[in-house]
Amino acid sequence: MEPKYIFFTGGVVSSVGKGVTAASLGRLLKERGFKVAVQKLDPYINVDPGTMSPYQHGEVFVLDDGAETDLDLGHYERFIDIRLSKVCNITTGQVYAEVIAKERHGDYLGGTIQVIPHITNEIKRRVTMVAKATGAEFILVEVGGTVGDIEGLPFLEAIRQLRTDLGRENTLYIHVTWLPFIGATEELKTKPTQHSVRELRSIGIAPDIIVARSDHPVDSSLCEKIALFCDVDKRAVIPMITTPVLYEVPLLMESAGVGDLLLERFKLTQRQKPDWNDWKKMVARVKEEKPSVKIALVGKYVELHDAYLSVREALRHAAINQGVELDLEWVHSAELEKGRGWDTLKQCHGILVPGGFGSRGIEGKIQAATFARENKIPYFGLCLGMQLMVVEFARHVFKTENANSTEFDRATPFPVIDLMLEQQSITDMGGTMRLGLYPCHLQPGTKARAAYGLDYVEERHRHRFEFNNAYRKDLQSAGMVLSGLSPDGKLVEIAELADHPFMLGTQFHPEFLSRPNRPHPLFSAFIQAACEHAGIKPNP
Ligand code: GLN
Repeated sequence: MEPKYIFFTGGVVSSVGKGVTAASLGRLLKERGFKVAVQKLDPYINVDPGTMSPYQHGEVFVLDDGAETDLDLGHYERFIDIRLSKVCNITTGQVYAEVIAKERHGDYLGGTIQVIPHITNEIKRRVTMVAKATGAEFILVEVGGTVGDIEGLPFLEAIRQLRTDLGRENTLYIHVTWLPFIGATEELKTKPTQHSVRELRSIGIAPDIIVARSDHPVDSSLCEKIALFCDVDKRAVIPMITTPVLYEVPLLMESAGVGDLLLERFKLTQRQKPDWNDWKKMVARVKEEKPSVKIALVGKYVELHDAYLSVREALRHAAINQGVELDLEWVHSAELEKGRGWDTLKQCHGILVPGGFGSRGIEGKIQAATFARENKIPYFGLCLGMQLMVVEFARHVFKTENANSTEFDRATPFPVIDLMLEQQSITDMGGTMRLGLYPCHLQPGTKARAAYGLDYVEERHRHRFEFNNAYRKDLQSAGMVLSGLSPDGKLVEIAELADHPFMLGTQFHPEFLSRPNRPHPLFSAFIQAACEHAGIKPNP
């Protein structure tokens, strides 16, 4: 079968769930027996989001091959249960970097390099590369931003041309818009949708399907109106009301008939009947009444929950699976340093310290780790959270008062966390960390090994600093267990405390591989420990 392309554009406003829509439609196709990949086109000029502040861009999602990508790739992987690769996230920065490198190399033989055709050709090359690189039969391509953004124009022009290049029968355009609700008259408005479709048409793209997002029910007369004014079939106007349960979206899309509609448009028949049993059970579990377990997420970007999107989702997955409600408390680490937020922290049944960079709020996170250790409260440290657990242990159990990571104190007399050897000569910031999937051996008799039920795992990494081997013996003699090591034994991947119900940290980011109906084993173990601490019986 020739690869089929579905292009998603956004209208009216951003942040209405274009990524979740694309991810959900991908799932509908996978359920019908097709191999699916999703690609995000990001119009910003950074080469990747790895150098951007989480305040600007939310979390950086890391793939197996080490690509640092947009957080929408996390939605795609979780909803469709696939593993994507670096070809699945393009930015304007990457496109220009490639074209300019070719120009400097003399590849254009005296030509004048222009947005059309050189930039658009490079975009098209990268879009059509996905099918070959992943073997996918359906490639869902999400264009970031909304129609009308200046920086998005070359991407829209490229996907417009792709209909001609690839054939009408192999391409479909889906426009995701927003219907605002006017309180005074209590009605939903379609005018902004009409305008954004007109804008899209003016650059030559006529949408085949319109997904109308709204916080309120969209009745059929409204769909008829959108169909009439935007020139699409009535069946092709898909209302999509905001749901408190994100993972319900694929089920809502299925019952709206979108899966069948997509195949009909491509003149294909399904290879297998969708089997939603497990997914439905998972969504039903989310909705049922259950005892709640309170978890503190101690971070520095807590005002922007997107900064810890995968961590929150991984906690949710584990809680759903254990039959408990996740009650997440966002605790600002810099506030803890000022003596604030402790009442909240003290009420929690588990403390999670996620990844991070830079010195702000570090001491607050260390204080949270001390509190967890001394009071035997389950603690889970991810990357930086693991490093600080080691610092805390060195300072207060091994009694080396000034122990630190050299990231925060270059002159510390006890650098228990230090820059990795291969990082020492690196000066560039972008894409230079230890990134992506690396193997880890789990040591017998440890909590980590018991949680995984395996002795070998591969997990995704994103860091420059590591456990300093010079302190291994000292910290082990004081009760720290190095439960996960790289195959050559040189890198500490997991540390845990012997004398604690659950105090464990990973140098890697387990949150990236958690799935709604297949939670990550370490997140499950953490939630179980938190339930135990709360006196709640989990109901897996
Ligand atoms: N800043 C730490 C390092 O570079 C931790 C990174 C992280 O938490 N992702 O090693």
